[in-house]
Amino acid sequence: MADRGILIIVSGFSGAGKGTVMKRIMNDYNNYALSISATTRNPRAGEENGREYFFKTVEEFENMIANDQLIEYAQYVGNYYGTPKEYVESMLNQGKDVILEIEMQGAMKVKEKMPDTLLVFVTPPSAQELKNRLVGRGTEDMDTINARLKRANEEVYYMDKYDYLLINDDLDQCVKELHEIIQSEHSRVSRNINKINFFREDLKIFSEGE
Ligand code: 5GP
Repeated sequence: MADRGILIIVSGFSGAGKGTVMKRIMNDYNNYALSISATTRNPRAGEENGREYFFKTVEEFENMIANDQLIEYAQYVGNYYGTPKEYVESMLNQGKDVILEIEMQGAMKVKEKMPDTLLVFVTPPSAQELKNRLVGRGTEDMDTINARLKRANEEVYYMDKYDYLLINDDLDQCVKELHEIIQSEHSRVSRNINKINFFREDLKIFSEGE
């Protein structure tokens, strides 16, 4: 049976370019399953239900909470966001590494429930660059952008709860580093207890007769 996959959380300020990093890592490597979240926010131009998000009404979302269908959920700038449980569990059980692109409160809840989750924080190189990217993508009005920047100023205090910090300056480099971080994580001793036990058993033959 395959080892269970690694659960990876990628968080970062709105405008850090996480979405682009996710698209690229899924495109460049065949290793990962990307969880699609449920949200009550409105779709942006070009977003499709079931591709970027499962777009839900507040009532539908609250039903998912009541029926324990979410691993975690959080409110972010006036909307609900949450991670559907079934897909993540089934991928992990099949040995696939699963990436959740979620904000910090949700990340902390997952870490509490599943302490072996790998937490990666992605940020642009500076606050000014963050604002430039948010304004430049033109998907939010100025009020929403300001609310998101204010939120970033709160989120910055969670950065040191993460395992890795990735500066998204050069997209190619950032995607490559994220992939390398995840692959190295597979070699961590605590994730290889089965193999260690195998070696302990396997080496016993050499102690016979001593
Ligand atoms: P956006 O509206 O820009 O797509 O996402 C806003 C924030 O919600 C981002 O920081 C994103 O990572 C986060 N987010 C997306 N899906 C989830 C989720 O399922 N759970 C939590 N806690 N945050 C999420």
